[in-house]
Amino acid sequence: MNFELSEDDKAFADAVARFARDKLAKGAVERAHSPEYPWEAARMIAEQGLLGIAFPVEDGGQGGTLMHAVLAIQEVAAVCPRSADIVQAGNFGPIRTFVEYATPEQKKRYLPDLLGGRSVISLGMTEPEAGSAVTELRTTAEIRGDEVVINGGKIFSTHSSDASLFLIYVRFGPGVDGIGSVLIERGAPGFTVGKPGRFMNGEQWSPLYFENARIPVSNILLGPGGFKKQIAGFNVERLGNASRSLALGRHAFNLAREHALTRRQFGRPLCEFQGLQWKFADMWMRLEQAQLLLYRAALEGERGLPSAQSTAMAKLACNEAGWFAANEALQVLGGTGFSQDSLAEYCVRRIRGWMIAGGSLEMLRNRIAEGVFGRSFPQRPPKAT
Ligand SMILES: Cc1cc2nc3c(=O)[nH]c(=O)nc-3n(C[C@H](O)[C@H](O)[C@H](O)COP(=O)(O)OP(=O)(O)OC[C@H]3O[C@@H](n4cnc5c(N)ncnc54)[C@H](O)[C@@H]3O)c2cc1C
Repeated sequence: MNFELSEDDKAFADAVARFARDKLAKGAVERAHSPEYPWEAARMIAEQGLLGIAFPVEDGGQGGTLMHAVLAIQEVAAVCPRSADIVQAGNFGPIRTFVEYATPEQKKRYLPDLLGGRSVISLGMTEPEAGSAVTELRTTAEIRGDEVVINGGKIFSTHSSDASLFLIYVRFGPGVDGIGSVLIERGAPGFTVGKPGRFMNGEQWSPLYFENARIPVSNILLGPGGFKKQIAGFNVERLGNASRSLALGRHAFNLAREHALTRRQFGRPLCEFQGLQWKFADMWMRLEQAQLLLYRAALEGERGLPSAQSTAMAKLACNEAGWFAANEALQVLGGTGFSQDSLAEYCVRRIRGWMIAGGSLEMLRNRIAEGVFGRSFPQRPPKAT
């Protein structure tokens, strides 16, 4: 067992850190407070080869590893937390499920712009009546000749206000086996992107409406029975969520550490107060613990898709450690940390959302408990006999 990064991983992380310092440091605070997708940063990140890092070269990817993609998020977030969303969107989000299952024609049509930082894809899974219980989704897809007709709606989709392509979970028929997914372009007939709303973290999201929306059958990603495959792809997305949570926790931690070394009260630097030293000890320990679970899951992903169990543990640990560290860091920074001139408050707000998105803390615990007992625990009430 070796707890060190390999030489290749270290060299990759160093190169990304240099790029982030050179190109992304300027404007980091402004980017964090802008609701729009940071397109300019996206193009620089694409040019640096940080989109599609672990995707096959023949798909336009970089042929790297999942660990490289995790390291890229970490190094970018250390300098510009908002830009880590771009690395997420180009490596871990719905794009990952897309690359796994899309046809060569679908890849040819959409990947060049997605990997070039010129467009972004949004995932539509959640509906008003289907949140944690995602298999209760009601949006229907009916194949009529060479078209698919879609009716229903989605809420809370990340990047929905900016995306030009949407990966939408739909119901072709009853039950879990009836679930699949389709690709819908903005502007498709019968598809409306509603007025943007705002999350507490500052992100915009737009409700999506499908009223007899029509797409060609060639835009089906996974037909009926595709749900399990989609969720396997979604496990990778969880690692992106976990990486950003941890990275933003570290970003806030670093700000607080610097502050504690330089800010003086009562005639001494803050770091000399034991009450604050203990906060730093706890923050650091929790960040390091979560880091190990994240790396373990990422390494598993190099031998195929990482397991649901490992990703659930990594995400839970990173969400909680990142949140704890960012929140404590804000406290150490005092009024400065609470001010929007500092990125600490931004890190707190962003990590808070990831404790709900991509599998809430409670759903992750349910998943982990199934692993503990080696059996499933259906969450629905038993059927009346
Ligand atoms: C920042 C952010 C980004 C998001 N991005 C996307 C996106 O890109 N695409 C998309 O489709 N959706 C997205 N979502 C939606 C997200 O997936 C849902 O919010 C999430 O699945 C929870 O569903 P819900 O909000 O309906 O809560 P509910 O499912 O109603 O849950 C409410 C509470 O009850 C708990 N709970 C529910 N069931 C159980 C159970 N069986 N055991 C224990 N506790 C339970 C939950 O953990 C939660 O605390 C995003 C959400 C956020 C906050």
